[in-house]
Amino acid sequence: MDLKKYITIVEDWPKPGIRFKDITSLMDDGAAYKYATDQIVEYAKQVDADIIVGPEARGFIIGCPVAYALGLGFAPVRKEGKLPREVIRAEYGLEYGKDVLTMHSDAIKPGQRVLITDDLLATGGTIEATINLVEQLGGIVAGCAFLIELTYLDGRDKLVGYEVRTLLQY
Ligand code: 5GP
Repeated sequence: MDLKKYITIVEDWPKPGIRFKDITSLMDDGAAYKYATDQIVEYAKQVDADIIVGPEARGFIIGCPVAYALGLGFAPVRKEGKLPREVIRAEYGLEYGKDVLTMHSDAIKPGQRVLITDDLLATGGTIEATINLVEQLGGIVAGCAFLIELTYLDGRDKLVGYEVRTLLQY
């Protein structure tokens, strides 16, 4: 299946000059969403994942159906102030300034093999912070799966030494 057909390019959103890759048009189509999910389920089996981790909010859209299909747990990564119990934190750089991602301190057991999922790899800042959280808890990053990779932003440079799978490249 040609998944690119289901991605809508939105010009100048959220800012002038950005060509936003909208995945909601893929999710709207049951067959396309299932096809994409099935690819990542196969990848999760290959890397022998014990648990799926994804950053809010689109990392949930990719990761939760994978966790369900395999009968695995899903641990959410969220912006600061959103999780109700004790958290660990990782800072990451934005275009202007910094942001913080958090995860519950007991979300991952040391030695668990973790598959990280997100919709899109751009500069790699979000995945880098997510890897940092997983590793703070003693998890092993078994793989990183994305629907889309923007190759011209070189996010892979931040993932040297990690297993990475992307379904679509621009
Ligand atoms: P990075 O941290 O790699 O620079 O950016 C990736 C994060 O930003 C992902 O969590 C992703 O959801 C979001 N993102 C950045 N650009 C786009 C885009 O064009 N489309 C979508 N769907 N998400 C994007």
